[in-house]
Amino acid sequence: MSHDAQHTVSTGSLPGRDLVEAVLDEAYERFRDLDEGEVIEGVPALADVEPDLFGVALVESSGAEHTRGDARHRFSIQSISKAFVYALVCQEIGHDAVLERVGVDNTGVPFDSVLAIEHNEGHPMNPMVNAGAIAATGLVPGDTRAERWDFVLRGLSRFAGRDLELDEAVYRSESRENQRNEGLALLLEGHGRLSGDALGVVDTYTRQCALLVDARDLAVMGATLASGGMNPLTGDQVVDPSIARDTVSVLTATGMYERSGEWLFEVGAPAKSGISGGIVMISPGKGAVGAFSPRLDDAGNSVRGRKACAHLSRSLGLDVFASRPPSDAS
Ligand code: GLN
Repeated sequence: MSHDAQHTVSTGSLPGRDLVEAVLDEAYERFRDLDEGEVIEGVPALADVEPDLFGVALVESSGAEHTRGDARHRFSIQSISKAFVYALVCQEIGHDAVLERVGVDNTGVPFDSVLAIEHNEGHPMNPMVNAGAIAATGLVPGDTRAERWDFVLRGLSRFAGRDLELDEAVYRSESRENQRNEGLALLLEGHGRLSGDALGVVDTYTRQCALLVDARDLAVMGATLASGGMNPLTGDQVVDPSIARDTVSVLTATGMYERSGEWLFEVGAPAKSGISGGIVMISPGKGAVGAFSPRLDDAGNSVRGRKACAHLSRSLGLDVFASRPPSDAS
């Protein structure tokens, strides 16, 4: 089918329901049989997932929602939690303090790399890889681990518009093999970037990664960031508009790890991925896509999720960089 050219650019609103549904059908049907990529190894509780699962959801800033395939299949949110914890922490301590304490830049190294710390004299720089995300979780307010976990759980649940639950098996599985993240946290503490209870911070971080969501939840959470921080389904103002804007700007540079530049080139909208196969893609003012498919590329990004996002971005005008010449230009 041919899509109306006016919807392939980033200004204005999404096309009407029929076209959105048709494009979602295309994105789902075109890639449902694709079996490129590998399911994550190394975390036993994640490795035994059904690799053929594939779900796509789109939630508009208007509150309209669309789903295809396994969009209600639950999986642990993993790294995608980093975006939302970052937003909650920014809301608490403000733009300037987050810039100073964590940073907002890509590090160009894989998500679990210590270089993200060591290249920058202990300044973690990138809140969307493990080092920076652990530093961000270290800024969560609260006097006890229980209070800090409550802050994270409640905040992420408000983004999703429902009470999220922990996948205990994933949490235990990751906790048993957490030496690398614990190492990152101790290194941050050594550089004065985490104050006290470094291992407790890693525990909160590991829990936030084990929260269960589905592709539709991701779309709602993303649509909240795309809608001035207000959840378009519940009407809850989760973070201020300026904080939603700050978070999306950081995701643009960092959300797809060391492939963030390639992602922008190919797909053109801020996004965040996680190792269980989720992706959230945000189009400010319009809405967000949630995608889930467990097979990953070598940077840890879902292969079918990436393809579906690229198709939706181009066909529905979610790409924030696309424009067209003024209509009166000759
Ligand atoms: N829980 C995983 C970790 O800390 C999350 C990584 C990811 O999704 N990229 O390594």
